[in-house]
Amino acid sequence: MTEKPVYSRILLKISGEALAGNNGFGIDPEMIKKIASEISDVVKTTSVEMAVVVGGGNIFRGIAGSAKGMDRGTADYMGMLATVINALALQDAIEKFDIETRVQSAIEMRQIAEPYIRRRAIRHLEKGRVVIFAAGTGNPFFSTDTTAALRAAEISADAILMAKNVDGIYDSDPAVNEDAQKHDTLSYIDLLNNSLRVMDFTAVSLCMDNKIPLKVFAVKKEGNIKRVLLGENIGTSVS
Ligand code: UDP
Repeated sequence: MTEKPVYSRILLKISGEALAGNNGFGIDPEMIKKIASEISDVVKTTSVEMAVVVGGGNIFRGIAGSAKGMDRGTADYMGMLATVINALALQDAIEKFDIETRVQSAIEMRQIAEPYIRRRAIRHLEKGRVVIFAAGTGNPFFSTDTTAALRAAEISADAILMAKNVDGIYDSDPAVNEDAQKHDTLSYIDLLNNSLRVMDFTAVSLCMDNKIPLKVFAVKKEGNIKRVLLGENIGTSVS
């Protein structure tokens, strides 16, 4: 352990989209390997305790199911199951680098994951294990961004690191508007007032109420997770 991170415990949010890489759907083996390698590098070379929340949008989103006529609650449970698939894939990829991990699921499925137990998750973190939180909050009508905010508050994480396909928060969609400007810093109130949809409003208000700083950065650029942990100002910081 040589490098000193600015945080001692963080929560990394990986969207399903990030796991899909350029395919836009499913799990890109190269992408998940790359993310796992960065997580393992951080765990091996710094003292930071790392919890991870994975999304499921690369497989299924409840809102898409309900737009096609499904019952929203049922569709959201499907979305939560999608996050479990991603969590298991990420666990497998991280363990290939000889890092101990635990998956804790908000919906009990004892054959494949531990149930989510807050104090147990904290104990795993203290022992240097990467804890992957699966199945969102366990409740329909929520998102994995809200899960990230909730779990970060529960485990007293120093920050949420949001690994995205874009390299920060822009004033308009950079994929649509080539003049879009990236923000370096923002407040949570700015996110709400300007409807900057980097997270849903429930997640934003949880972060704001619990004073959890958020770092939004590009997952594709190698070494970015560590850069943020070592205090480099990349992407957008929200507090
Ligand atoms: N989901 C849910 N409750 C939660 C978390 C997630 O119902 O607490 C469902 C919801 O349908 C969501 C899906 O799981 O669309 C996948 O999560 P999300 O869309 O947040 O994933 P991401 O956009 O990060 O890939």
